[in-house]
This record gives sequence, C-alpha cells and structure tokens, in this order.
Amino acid sequence: MKKLLFLLSALGLGLFGCQESKSVKNSPPAGIALSFDDRYVEEWTRLRPLLKKYNAHATFYVTQFDSLTPKEIEQLHQLVLDGHEIGAHGAAHIRVLDWLRGGGALDDFYRYEIEAELLSMRKAGFKPVTFAHVGGQQTWFTDRRLLKDYFILLRDVSMTERRVSLLTFRQPVFAIDDIYYHFDSNPKVHSLLIDQYTNITDAQLKDGLIRAKNTGSVLMLLGHHPLFDSSDEPYAFSVSRLEKLLAETQRMGLKTYTMAELIRLSRR
Ligand SMILES: [Zn+2]
Repeated sequence: MKKLLFLLSALGLGLFGCQESKSVKNSPPAGIALSFDDRYVEEWTRLRPLLKKYNAHATFYVTQFDSLTPKEIEQLHQLVLDGHEIGAHGAAHIRVLDWLRGGGALDDFYRYEIEAELLSMRKAGFKPVTFAHVGGQQTWFTDRRLLKDYFILLRDVSMTERRVSLLTFRQPVFAIDDIYYHFDSNPKVHSLLIDQYTNITDAQLKDGLIRAKNTGSVLMLLGHHPLFDSSDEPYAFSVSRLEKLLAETQRMGLKTYTMAELIRLSRR
C-alpha cells in the first residue's frame, strides 16, 4: 500500500512538474498592452517615434472611420507597418445601451455601427479583429453576437475611481483583477483608463507593472487624446507620462502586446 501511495504521489508530482514547466515554457513573457481610442490619427502619428524608441506595439481603436481624410487613412497604414494594430470602435460611436434604451433596433446596431465600420475599414485595406466598446457600454447578448460573427476580442474600460452620486469609490491598480491578462484565451477584457480625469498617478501605474511582472501577466491600459503639452483636458493623457511608463516597462524587461496578440498567443 505504501509503495502504491509513493508511486501515485511520484506520478502526481511528475505530472504537476511537467505541466508547470510546460506552462512556464509556453507562456509569453509578462508585459503591457496599450490601446488608444477614437480618431486622434494626427496625434497617434506623432507618437510613432516614441513607440519606436521603446520598440512598443499598441492598438489604435478607430471610430467614425468614414470621416477620416485620405491622409489620415495613410497614417493608419503607417501605424500598421510599424507593427501596431488598428481595431474597430464603431461607425458612429454609438453606446449600445443608450441606443437600445432610445428604442433603436438591435439589428440596426449591428448593421450601422458594426458592419458599416468593418466594411469601410476593409475597403481601405484594414483587417480589424478586435473591438473596443463605446462609452464602456455592453450587454451579454450583444457581446455574444459580436464574438460569434465579428471579433476575436472585446475590450471594455476599468478605472481606479468611480463616482456614484456623492460617493467616490477607489481601488488600487494592483487590486483590479480584470486589467491583467493571463493568456487564457479570455475574449472579454478590461483596460485601465489613464486619462487625466481619472487622477491616476505614476506610482499607481508602477504598481500595475510590478503585479504584471510578478504574475507573468499583461497589464492592459488605454487612453484617448495624446497631449504633447501640459493642457488639463480631461479625456486626454500626457505623452510625458506615457514615455515614463514605456521607460519603466523597458527597464523591468516587460514586453508590449497588441490586443489581437493577447488572444493569438493564448491559442498557441
Ligand atoms: Zn470612444
């Protein structure tokens, strides 16, 4: 009996050991996944040298694609050539819950917000496979169809501060589980918003990098308008903060990933 127990435990340890070394060997390195939303194509283009300097790849979620100029479309192609991803963010930037509450038909949401954008983007030579929810709005049934028919990953938003009437709820970056990707093929993810109005600090972002490094995961972050000066525009982030973040990311030996890579590398 003792021999049998020993054999079983040895086998168990052996199996566990194999699985552990396999997952360590196959799991991509820890890192960050940056995404930028809306249609700040001029400013995104000005980010190219900075992203190149740190060998960083990011995802740019474009909305209102039909309103872009030929020059802006060319600039998006340059971003792709640099190794960045261009994702979809809706033809008209429609918040799905507001649309449904206002009496909009679900089929029209797919037709005019999703399919119309995909059609325009594909005609211009892009192949969007991931989608950023507009205004952080989503429903389980629209997500189900978006994943079934159109995209491999849907990205939502997380914040360190949430205001509910007069109360402000705060949570530390290292404690927000859903902003860390573990290469588990999860197609519904959240990125932490770094825009100025969220009051996030460099120290909090560093905490996020440390958790990613220590857990072999990817910290997902997003911003809107890149600011090259010291304006206090709320839905915008400072490029100097982005540079600090990228420098720290490089110093800690962390990689950068596009959103589509998170899924594709999970499936290996
Ligand atoms: Zn947006």
